[in-house]
Parts: sequence; structure tokens; C-alpha cells
Amino acid sequence: MKKDIRSLSEDQLCDFFVNEGYEPFRGKQVYNWLWNKSVNSFGKMTNLSLPLRKTLDDNFVINNLLVDKIQKSKDGTIKNAVKLFDGLLVESVLIPSNKRSTACVSSQVGCSLDCEFCATSKLKRMRNLNPDEIYDQVVTIDRQSQNFYNRPLTNIVFMGMGEPLMNYNNLIKAIHLISSKKGLGISQKRIVVSTSGIPKMIKKLADESLKVNLAVSLHSAVESTRNKIMPFTKDFPLNELQDSLAYWYKKTKSKITFEYIVWKDVNDSIEHINALVNYCKSIPSKVNLIEYNSIGDQNFQSANPNMINLYKDLLEKNKITVTVRRSRGKDIDAACGQLANK
Ligand code: SAH
Repeated sequence: MKKDIRSLSEDQLCDFFVNEGYEPFRGKQVYNWLWNKSVNSFGKMTNLSLPLRKTLDDNFVINNLLVDKIQKSKDGTIKNAVKLFDGLLVESVLIPSNKRSTACVSSQVGCSLDCEFCATSKLKRMRNLNPDEIYDQVVTIDRQSQNFYNRPLTNIVFMGMGEPLMNYNNLIKAIHLISSKKGLGISQKRIVVSTSGIPKMIKKLADESLKVNLAVSLHSAVESTRNKIMPFTKDFPLNELQDSLAYWYKKTKSKITFEYIVWKDVNDSIEHINALVNYCKSIPSKVNLIEYNSIGDQNFQSANPNMINLYKDLLEKNKITVTVRRSRGKDIDAACGQLANK
């Protein structure tokens, strides 16, 4: 089987050309075509001679992903089902707003975690995405944003399918490619990595000296409740999470965003609000209250809007910044927690 050329670094590409008797700078040219220009065939590399293109063809493939299906929501959100080289599917979403275009990208096919309220968790984890597969989702959405909304992509959130910190090495490579001038040149400050909260990996990410933002899907600051709705958290108690977040802040000086859904009879009580307020006070953080998107499970229903307002009021009284996030793309199952390649 021919090798995926994008698994090679720029230096490895240069070495390949030297071994084949070409000048090393050919490696740089090819790297530029592959990443900066994102071409999907050697035939399009027009500053290379035909024999050189044939050498590439004989040795490598370019595993570009294919958009299998596009759905457009009435609110402008666009959902892509993308087919990977081995036929598996993931989803990625373009979310346009007034001035922004945000790409919501997947990091895994399925997910190994078991959040009871999330459609992706029902799929189990099939495999990790390669760096180029993460990168291509961003490129695809950047092009869509230019085509449909006349502007380049402005933001990227790792809130699609999968747990980014469980595909750590490929996540880091993808972030470097996305932010590099040799890739897309999008600032790391415009990237949000969203995690369900894996303390050891949060510390590791803190040590990378990246400029990305961190969001944590908290959903409850009461241990027993969190364990129930996100069973894997039994291995990652709230105090360990707190330690890792304190470490994150110490290293990056970047505030953490807690993502939080309020459900009827799950966390719609004063006790839960107080627990959240206390948790937030322990670490520089803000709260994003997110609207629940039903996945058809009767155990999870949106709380009464009064309760959500009470959360907002009490957080604000305690000087904690809070935003309420409205769902986008619900009509096409493109909203948070609904990605499951139906
Ligand atoms: N695994 C990562 C990233 C993917 S989920 C994480 O958990 O952060 C992205 C966000 O969608 C998370 O905050 C998650 O808790 C939220 N989410 C999951 N299911 C949802 C649902 N049904 N409705 C609304 N948000 C949901």
C-alpha cells in the first residue's frame, strides 16, 4: 500500500527527494502544496516537472477527505458529513454569526467516553482522527465560509465528535498545522479545545505553551451527579480536575470556560447552583450555560427557563461571568451533542 504523503514532516519530504536524486527544496514545495494550498492531487503541483509528479504518484497517496453530504439549517449553520479514506464518517459544522465564522470539528470517530446525554457517546470510539483529517475539516469549512458568507473562518472549536484530549498527539499536530504560516495561519487564540475533563491531559496541554483556550464540560459540580451523568468521571474526581485547572491557569494565564447544561431534576436546584459558584470561585473561570439539545432520552429534559435565569443571576451576583449559548443548527441535528452520523 502506498504511504499517505501527509504523514511525512517537511524534513522527511526533503530527505525523500534527496534520496530520489532531486534537490531538497522540492520537499518544501510539495509541503506547501499539501498544507498551505491543500491540493488533493499531485497533478495540481504545477511547479514540479512531470517525472517528479510521477515519482510522487508511484510512492504516495493524498488521503483527502470527501464531503459526503452537506445540510444547511434555516439559521445558516452548515453540517458536513465527511468520509475518511477508510469509509468511516465524521461530522463537522460551520456556524456563522454576525461577524464570525466558527468551525466545530471532530477529533475522533465516535467517542470512548460515556456522557449519558450525548449522541456521540452511543457510537463508541472507532478510531482517532489523523492530524490531516482534523486539518481537512478546517480547510473544508474555511472554503465554505468563503463561498457562502464571503469571509474566511475566524474561530475553531473542538466540540464535534470525540474527546480531543484522548487523541492528544494528533490534536497537538493539527493545532500546529492550523496555526502555522505554512498551514492555515489561524491564530491559536481563536481555537478552543473542549474537554470532558481529563486532569492528567489538561496538565500536559498546559505544558505545551500553546495559546489555545480551554473549555471544560462540567455540567455539575456535585460529584455524585457528575458521576451519574458522565460515568467515566468516577476515575477523575472534581478535586483532581480542579488541581489540573489551577495548573492550567498558572501556566497559561488563560481563564477556563465551564460548559454547563441545566436539566430538569438533574441539576436544577439551589444546591447545584451553590456548588457551581464555589467551584468557579476556586479557579479563574467563566460559565457558558448551554441549551440542551434533546437526543430522545427521557431522563434528560431542559430545565425550566426560570431555573436557568436563577443560575445566571446567582453566578453574576458572585462576580462570575456567564453567557447563555443558544443552540444553532438544531433542525439538521448539527447542534452540540447531536453529532452521530445519522
Ligand atoms: N468531548 C468534548 C468535546 C465534544 S462535546 C467535551 O465533552 O467537551 C462538545 C460540547 O457539547 C460539550 O460541552 C458537551 O457536554 C456538549 N453536549 C453534549 N451533548 C449535548 C446535548 N445533547 N446538548 C447540548 N450540549 C451537549
